[in-house]
Amino acid sequence: MKLKKLELFGFKSFAEKTEIIFEDGITVIVGPNGCGKSNVIDALKWVLGEQSVKSLRGNEMADVIFNGTDKRPSLGYAEVSLTIQNTKGLLPLEYTEVCITRRLYTSGESEYLLNKQASRLKDIRELFLDTGFGANAYSVIEQGNVEAMLQADSRERRLLFEEAAGISKFKSRKKAALSKLEHVEQNLLRVGDIIEELQKQLRSVKLQASKARKYQEYVEQLKNLKIGLSLKNYRDLKEKGATVSEQAAQTGEQNQKIVAEINELEVQINTLEG
Ligand code: ATP
Ligand code: MG
Repeated sequence: MKLKKLELFGFKSFAEKTEIIFEDGITVIVGPNGCGKSNVIDALKWVLGEQSVKSLRGNEMADVIFNGTDKRPSLGYAEVSLTIQNTKGLLPLEYTEVCITRRLYTSGESEYLLNKQASRLKDIRELFLDTGFGANAYSVIEQGNVEAMLQADSRERRLLFEEAAGISKFKSRKKAALSKLEHVEQNLLRVGDIIEELQKQLRSVKLQASKARKYQEYVEQLKNLKIGLSLKNYRDLKEKGATVSEQAAQTGEQNQKIVAEINELEVQINTLEG
């Protein structure tokens, strides 16, 4: 893979727009201590999506933005663009030239562009996957790296090998997955509490519902009993009425008989007196 051009603006010591053209052959950057040679490498790593602030030799990501000097005010953002020749199609894109851009504002807002189109870090990373180039690949060996490798103790060397073997990526994924898992477990616990609370409520609602059903049953029963009682009262009264009418009729008959007897006796008395 061949680099064509690196453009810097507002990145670390590059306050002015700077263009580095990589001609055919080897490009060497020379200069006195502290002139910004390593900053060029930092820019290269950064535009490829480097997320480790430590590896960019800063304390926080905003440290990559030009922070001013005695004579020059600080800038509001840093921007780095890298143009890569893609005539061999190593990058899975139709373009013969691919330009990636990363921008970071002092507000913390950041942007990635792929051929001037807004893109995501994930897309940039995937673009360089398996090409041997990229923020996590071993294509950048910096000042002090070789010495550090030689002097490293077994633990540090292991980290280096893990990085080279690409295990550190999986380790960081494992860490992220574990923390996600913990988060999910906590959520699960909370959901369990909610379920328990809801079950309690459900039990009480069920009890109330069964009481309400019983109440309705009793109301219905009461209505039927009241109707039955009224019917019975009506029948009783009707029967009594009939008996009384019959008695009245009998009494009337007796009365007539007695009147007739009196009349007869009066006739007899009159006959005897006469
Ligand atoms: P050496 O030869 O010692 O390795 P170098 O050429 O690699 O030096 P760098 O480390 O690339 O130098 O550059 C260091 C310079 O960059 C310092 O002068 C530092 O003040 C400057 N610098 C770093 N970050 C910023 C920033 N955010 N704003 C302005 N200047 C910065
Ligand atoms: Mg240096």
